[in-house]
Amino acid sequence: MNVNHVDLTISAVHPDQYPSTDYPEIALVGRSNVGKSSLTNALINRKNFAHTSSQPGKTQTLNFYNVEDKLYFVDVPGYGYAKVSKKQREEFGQMIENYLTQRSQLRGVIMLVDGRHAPTADDVQMYQWLAYYELPILVVATKIDKVKPSQFTRVQKLVKDKLEFQEKQPLVLFSAMSKRGKEDVWRWIEEQTGV
Ligand code: GDP
Repeated sequence: MNVNHVDLTISAVHPDQYPSTDYPEIALVGRSNVGKSSLTNALINRKNFAHTSSQPGKTQTLNFYNVEDKLYFVDVPGYGYAKVSKKQREEFGQMIENYLTQRSQLRGVIMLVDGRHAPTADDVQMYQWLAYYELPILVVATKIDKVKPSQFTRVQKLVKDKLEFQEKQPLVLFSAMSKRGKEDVWRWIEEQTGV
């Protein structure tokens, strides 16, 4: 999709703050620092719209980005925080779970993993959880510019094996530097949302 217009509509903590439109929504989940803001910015052709930060655990709200009045990207707080309290973790967990299980506008989830390393226990848990709820998932392995092309097949196998991919689970290798994979991610979003 050719994106010209994007707004941060709302940063929500409670369901009554979610947008009241019926636009389809695509959630983005992943550990802090995995490259979620960078992927979002690449998808909407902006340099620094979604806030990139190396501070883990900074985003603590669900951020709804209105794309062209057609769909929302929903930035879900990164899991695997180093610095937040157990209570905060539980509250975020509840907010995420409520959103992912109860939001009828949600059409799919983009789950990011760091393409330079094996998926972590947190990643495995998140993937299994999303699969259990039968949400359409696109797994995106980020920072792939840091991996030699000769290792791409190995990365794909590692991610698939560790997460125990469901049948037909798609995987895209992505780089925010080269934008490799961006068109594949958009194609998947278009398929899920019909935009
Ligand atoms: P977030 O916390 O998941 O939103 O992660 P960010 O998008 O803020 O990225 C975290 C760090 O990884 C930043 O220093 C980014 O510049 C870097 N980064 C993100 N994507 C890529 C990528 O595709 N390639 C490289 N080399 N670095 C990246």
